[in-house]
Amino acid sequence: FRVHISPLKGSHEERMGVVGLLTDVTERRKLERMRSEFVANVSHELRTPLTSINGFVETLLDGAIEDPTLAKNFLEIINAEGKRLANLIDDLLKLSRLEDRRTKLNKQPVDLAEVINNTVKMFEARATDKNIELTTALPQEMLPVPGDQGFLSQVLVNLVDNAIKYTLPGGKVGIEVTYSQEEVTVAVSDTGIGIPPESLPRVFERFYRVDKARSRDMGGTGLGLSISKHIIEAHGGKIRAESDQEGSTFSFTLPLHD
Ligand code: ADP
Repeated sequence: FRVHISPLKGSHEERMGVVGLLTDVTERRKLERMRSEFVANVSHELRTPLTSINGFVETLLDGAIEDPTLAKNFLEIINAEGKRLANLIDDLLKLSRLEDRRTKLNKQPVDLAEVINNTVKMFEARATDKNIELTTALPQEMLPVPGDQGFLSQVLVNLVDNAIKYTLPGGKVGIEVTYSQEEVTVAVSDTGIGIPPESLPRVFERFYRVDKARSRDMGGTGLGLSISKHIIEAHGGKIRAESDQEGSTFSFTLPLHD
């Protein structure tokens, strides 16, 4: 609480009492703290690839450039870290536009079967390489859902990408669609490493990762789920995560009618 006390005076300046004002600043302090934590996180996330790029460039300039094999190796790292930096900046811009609602959805009837089949095509090779079985279970009749196809594709790509990323070779990833009277639910399930119960409520937070090093090594920015949540909520839907030792399921529900 912030306390503000001022004297209450009468018409002849005589003191009649005091006025006390108590302002509840809990919410404001919380927002300020969240903002400064976010800025600290962003700076750290941007610094990490940059430090690595600078380090390798310096080593090259110090003479490593004379050794072609070593030089190629270093340049590949610089290239990968540069891409990571670009991905991170793209994700940050996307998130900030979604957060302050500057992003306008281009809503049209979306054919979810098409979105799902395109996503599967996109990940087929990667799943096969990792010996992961990628399957879909779609109802015979798929009703169109009002939404922004580009953004909905992005959510699906994020969820399938994570499912493959966090599942060991030999595992399975499935996409299932179910309808109720009012809603459609898309669930992406995996037989992966799972998420500990204490982390589950936090996975949609910006930059939250169960295992920071592992996520970074896999090329993750820690923003995918946060972006997905904003997209689904902008559609009037809900996204949720469930997980146990057998694996995880991320599902989102969208209203069928505007
Ligand atoms: P990242 O870029 O790190 O994957 P996300 O926002 O997509 O960021 O996910 C946040 C964290 O949630 C991940 O770092 C990972 O720890 C956890 N996570 C997300 N999806 C899965 C999954 N299918 N299985 C296990 N853990 C997951």
